[in-house]
Amino acid sequence: MTDCLFCRMVAGEIPADVVHETERTLAFRDINPQAPTHVLVIPKDHHATAGLLVGADPELLAEVVAAAHAVAVQEGLATESAPEPGYRLVFNSGPAAGQTVHHVHGHVLGGRDLGWPPG
Ligand code: 5GP
Ligand code: ZN
Repeated sequence: MTDCLFCRMVAGEIPADVVHETERTLAFRDINPQAPTHVLVIPKDHHATAGLLVGADPELLAEVVAAAHAVAVQEGLATESAPEPGYRLVFNSGPAAGQTVHHVHGHVLGGRDLGWPPG
């Protein structure tokens, strides 16, 4: 039993709208979408941030990024070889970035002009 929301989704204790899954990653739609496509991609193992994950298991961070790109292709935001129309992959880390769930997750955002810089 864990109190981590995303670990509980991996365990199937909390429902998730899953759009992509591999042996070690899970991707599901954000409950409060900020763009037409807003999918969260996580490693099934618990690590708090991308920076901690890359130190502990760099291959797993690469798998999360590969899964994020696969989601973008699936959602029509990119092809295997070209970033058109394009998407954003964001890892919020720590309080200044507004991280609220302390299980590393990449936000895949797309389907509108996302603008830059972010607010
Ligand atoms: P953070 O601010 O930590 O980078 O992002 C956490 C994200 O998790 C937010 O975009 C928030 O909407 C999403 N979220 C929080 N609770 C749930 C939930 O129960 N289900 C889903 N699918 N997303 C959630
Ligand atoms: Zn967790």
